[in-house]
This record gives sequence, C-alpha cells and structure tokens, in this order.
Amino acid sequence: MSSGGDTGIERRGSGGWDDVLAHEAYSVTPGSEWRSELYRVASAQFRRAADAIGLPDDIRERLEEPRRSLVVNFPVRRDNGDVQEFTGYRVQHTLVMGPTKGGIRLAPGVSLGECAALAMWMTYKCALLGLPFGGAKGGVRCDPNRLSAGEIERLMRRYTAEIGPIIGPDRDIGAPDMATGEREMSWIMDTYSQGAGQAVPEIVTGKPAVLGGTEGRRTATGLGIVFSIETVLEHLDWEIAGKKVVVQGVGNVGATVALELERRGAKIVGLADVTGGLHNDDGIDIGALLTHQAENRFIRGFDGADEISKTDVLVAPCDILVPAALECQITDQNAGKLATKLVVEGANGPTTPEADEILAQRGIPVVPDILANSGGVTVSYYEWAQGVQRESWSAEDVTARLEKAMNVATGRVLAADGGDWRTAALSIAIERVAQASALRAIYP
Ligand code: NAD
Repeated sequence: MSSGGDTGIERRGSGGWDDVLAHEAYSVTPGSEWRSELYRVASAQFRRAADAIGLPDDIRERLEEPRRSLVVNFPVRRDNGDVQEFTGYRVQHTLVMGPTKGGIRLAPGVSLGECAALAMWMTYKCALLGLPFGGAKGGVRCDPNRLSAGEIERLMRRYTAEIGPIIGPDRDIGAPDMATGEREMSWIMDTYSQGAGQAVPEIVTGKPAVLGGTEGRRTATGLGIVFSIETVLEHLDWEIAGKKVVVQGVGNVGATVALELERRGAKIVGLADVTGGLHNDDGIDIGALLTHQAENRFIRGFDGADEISKTDVLVAPCDILVPAALECQITDQNAGKLATKLVVEGANGPTTPEADEILAQRGIPVVPDILANSGGVTVSYYEWAQGVQRESWSAEDVTARLEKAMNVATGRVLAADGGDWRTAALSIAIERVAQASALRAIYP
C-alpha cells in the first residue's frame, strides 16, 4: 500500500484511486438521495406527463430533482432535562418561479425523499393555479403525540433557526401541514422575526389573524376541494344533492369537506380517522360527529353510525370517495375493490401509479391532488399578498376569489384533450414551469 504523499491519504491497491472509484460501492445511482415510496409515485406521475407533452430532456432532468435540500440535526431539551437529537429537512424543488412555498410537517415518517416528492407536487400545484411560487416542503421526523407543547415549541424554534439560511419572506415561505397549525406558525414567525430584529409575518402563512393571518385559511383546502367537486359534477351533469360520499380523514381537510358537502345536500355515508371507520348508508350527521370528535379527540365511539375498519371505509359503496388523510392509500391491493364512481384526492399522493392504471381501466376518474387540494396554497398566497401589501381582505372576498380560482383551474383541466385528469393537470403545470425555465435559460 503506497502513501498518498503529503496529503496523508493512503492509496489503495496497485491501480490507485481509479480502481477504487470504479468500484460500485463508490458509485451513486442518480436520484438515490430522494429514494422513497412517495418520490417514486411523484416521479412516475411527472414522467407520464413529461412524455405526454414531449418535455425536452435537459428541462426534464432539471425538474426531476429538487434544486436545494437541507438536512439538519439538532438537539432539543425534553421536559425531564434530557437532550434529544432530531432530524429536520427543507427541500426547495424549483427556484425559477419566484420564492418557494410549502408546508412543514411533524410526523414519524418525514424523510428527505418524502419532502422531495411533496415539494415537487407543490411546484405543480402553484403553477396550475398561476401562483408566483415554486414548491417546497419541510418537516421534522418525530412523533408529535409523544411531545409536550413546550417540547414542540422548542423543536419548532430550533428547526426554524437551523433552516434559517435558506428561508425568508422573499425566498422560501412556510405553511401548516400534518400536525402543525396556527400555533406552530406563530412560533416560526416569532423565531425568524427575533433573528431579523423586526416582525416578518410573511415568513409563514396559516398564522392566527392577529399576527397577520387571513380570513378563510383554516377551511381553504377543504372548501377548495368542494368548489372543484362542484365544477366536476357540473361537467359530468350530476346533481350534488343526494350523492353518497366517503371521506377518509377527519382533520383539517376531511372535516371541512364532509361538512361543506353535507351543507350542499350530499350524504356522508362513510368516514375514517386513525382510530377506525364509521358507516351509515342513511348519512352521518356531521355536526354531531364533529361535536363528538371535539369532546373525545377521535371519531371512535360515535353512536350515529356503525363502526367498521378504517380500510373497509375506502371500499364502501358511494358516488364520491375523498381520501383526505395520508399518502399511498389507494394501491394495487384495493383499487379493484373500490365501489365509487369518482375519486377526489384531498390528501397529497393518496393514489399509487399502479392504482391509477386499475381505476382508469375500471372507468373511475380521479380528480388529482395538485388540483383538488390546491385551495390551501391559493389562500396561503392571498395571505402572503395581503401581508406584503399591508392589506386585510374580508372573509367573503377570500372565499369568492378561492371559488373563482378553483373553478377556473378545474375547468382548464376538464377541457384538456384526452388522457386522465392527473396527466392533464400536470401537463398544464409542467409546461408553465418549463417555459419559465427556458426563458430564464442557464446562468452563467
Ligand atoms: P390533519 O392532521 O389535520 O388530519 C389528518 C386526519 O387523517 C386525522 O383525522 C387522522 O386521524 C386521519 N388519519 C391518519 N391516519 C389515518 C389512517 N391510517 N386511516 C384513516 N385516517 C387516518 O391533516 P390535514 O391537514 O387534514 O391533512 C390531510 C392530508 O391533506 C395530508 O395528506 C396533507 O398533506 C394534505 N393537505 C393538507 C392541506 C392543509 O391545508 N392542511 C393542504 C393540502 C394538502
């Protein structure tokens, strides 16, 4: 074994470093940093749409992987005095459209690959709605149910400080996602503002109104889904009244969808949360159900419906199925058994590409996530715009703008030629981002 000279590095084997570098243990598969089930799903959807529009190879490569990713490890003091290390992420998918924008989640499964997939979808959601943002996503890997409010506050503040170098009101703006809401957004805003020496409310959206939040943000995603459903039903020549609906997830998104569809005369025949499912073919009283949930935290034990398993809810007979809980719920294992006429994706990435194929063969159309749940980021944009302009819009104004935005975007997807609605929505969005990429060209 020869010496590497004054570098102090040892050369290995007679062939030197070339032999070593050629060894497969040292080669990196392109894209392997992002490998995760969700990234596989997002990439497969992207490639299908990219093929459909004949996206040039150089732009395809640029859009397939995120531009910037930051992984941070940081300590948090627990209530008992112990110090625990946590891992956090922030991924910015494209920087060509303006600042990046995206949620921050606390969940045990948060990973670089998951954030990369969610950041990619955010880019296309914003492009489809014509919002001046690229996509981002972030989060901390943890089980928020096992942390106290004080521990979550210290975790959120330290995470904000750690990702500080790549965020900013004109650079990358945060928002709520799974297990984060107005409380966490307030802590992020305060931590960032302390560093800046002045209040910077535009660093996050989804803030409480008194800190610069907007009317209508809390219900924006669910209401946006309902506006999109209304446009789709008009296209299909269906009445909403009397339609049977199943909603998976009774959180921010699912609860609003159930309530708003019930208000419009639909019957919510099935619901599920993490504790289990409920079924009542005559319709579940959503007001009573939400009161029960507020008192008991979960839907389990509600006496206005039969208890069934949370997986059986997905295959309960209905006209409209709204998965609004988490990713990869409709797969090749259950897509053949769905007893619905229409799927509307409230959650991000609830349907795998294999399930998409099966649903297409069965003639069950899917209103894709990047369209259906884009009301959240749309009203986040309204909040950011009000912040930078020091304006305050009324609830009626926000709702009217959201309804128009969802109707226009849904109408554009429905009017696209041929193919499925997911590919149509992605094609419209990718074309917009590709055009911006081409116009900005390559620096230097
Ligand atoms: P949330 O944490 O408020 O609610 C999630 C709900 O799903 C809860 O009722 C929970 O009990 C339920 N759930 C969890 N695991 C389940 C399982 N295995 N089976 C059935 N139910 C289960 O989250 P949210 O903000 O409503 O987000 C839900 C989905 O919508 C996520 O995919 C999120 O990324 C997406 N989304 C949210 C927003 C937003 O503005 N909040 C915007 C766009 C997309």
